Amino acid sequence: MSDPGVAAGRSPDIVLEGRFVEADRMRYVLVPFEVPPGLHQLEIRYSYSDRIDSDPLVGGGNTLDIGLFDPRGTETGSLGFRGWSGSHKDAFVVGEDWATPPYAPGPMPPGTWNVLLGPYKVGPRGCDYRVEIRIDPDVAPFERDLIRTGTPRRPLLPDARPGWLRGDLHCHTRYSDGDSWPAEMLHAASEAGLDFLGVTDHNNVAHQAEYGPGGGAWPIVIPGVEVTTYGGHWNAWGTDRWWEFREPSGPAVERAMRAAAEAGALVSVNHPKPFGPAWEYDTVGAAHAVEVWNGPWSGLNSLALEFWERRLRAGQRLTAVGGSDMHMLRAADPDMRHSRGLGGPTTWVEAGAQPDVAAILGGMHASRTFVSASPAGPQLYLDRVEDELAVEVRGGQGSALVLIGDGRVVEATAVLSDEQTMTFAVPPTAYVRAQLVSSTGEVTALTSPIWLA
Ligand SMILES: [Zn+2]
Repeated sequence: MSDPGVAAGRSPDIVLEGRFVEADRMRYVLVPFEVPPGLHQLEIRYSYSDRIDSDPLVGGGNTLDIGLFDPRGTETGSLGFRGWSGSHKDAFVVGEDWATPPYAPGPMPPGTWNVLLGPYKVGPRGCDYRVEIRIDPDVAPFERDLIRTGTPRRPLLPDARPGWLRGDLHCHTRYSDGDSWPAEMLHAASEAGLDFLGVTDHNNVAHQAEYGPGGGAWPIVIPGVEVTTYGGHWNAWGTDRWWEFREPSGPAVERAMRAAAEAGALVSVNHPKPFGPAWEYDTVGAAHAVEVWNGPWSGLNSLALEFWERRLRAGQRLTAVGGSDMHMLRAADPDMRHSRGLGGPTTWVEAGAQPDVAAILGGMHASRTFVSASPAGPQLYLDRVEDELAVEVRGGQGSALVLIGDGRVVEATAVLSDEQTMTFAVPPTAYVRAQLVSSTGEVTALTSPIWLA
């Protein structure tokens, strides 16, 4: 993918060079440089030896991530953070009026700036890097090459229960490693029939300004960020700022999650399964939710489900959420790890009569969710009605309904029609949750737990 807005410039004004060895792996460093007063624009290019893809399946070479801080500071939450582009941009421009996504345009104060370098992978021969900086190269702004414009056509889908919405909570745009613009993603979400879209670019929030709030004929936009650390990824929704991602330790992740939760964000552990990349911390911190279903079900999501169930059994009241993790709207190449379409899977949330961001996050906080294979369903509603459990299944004919309490199957029955409500005695367990399983053994829908004790 070409980097918008970056033109070849004159020879660099500043060159930063250095080397990382294997012991430096996954440790971010700040590399300072000085800029004079009167600055309007910076162009930054970087390269490094033995480059390999950031895909967790690839090894033996180097992957070097990059970010940028201005003189307003480098500490957690600082306004000085101008963006982080992982390893997916070789060059970018940051200026007063515009910046290459995912970087944020804005004031260009003189003084000490810092390039943030993260040696995500360091191969056996070490990683030699070179960063070239051009001061005021006068690069003209890029134009958005939108391929999706106009009024989206919403598909005809089975109705949800009144007060319930369907959405996708996890996707990426050109503000991280996706291939499309926020407006295109929202268009695609509408055409998938979604009522809301969680927007979660890696370690950036600059995409949020392009989305706007959505709503009306468009899906409601849930502002978010995928906090991308070297030991696992977590989502924060309902936040407009970046959260600390640079220290891959359990205590650091706990601190960052707690801070996000205290600021009102809803927080989830993402894709805790091999190659997710996995969640390597021995804590889920202040997480409210676990992304139990990321991309196609067959992509080892049964291990994410086990991760979640172990924590439910330990009494941790974690909501089930899902996300397509979609990156590529336009690419012809198959993206094996992520869904090819929004809504695969779909998260359904009870948001009540006045649906907005707060109501959707409220439903997620209350664990009033289920996750299904697609926006078309199947739909699975689990309620406690006095001494009974009521399970309503829509569109699940031919599958098996399984109720799971404390990690064990407590009921299993066939779903005989596409509109079916069944009741069961409340089991003597701490929690119960429901799941639909196809005749080939794939999970097609699963609910958050109801806590009984
Ligand atoms: Zn992720």
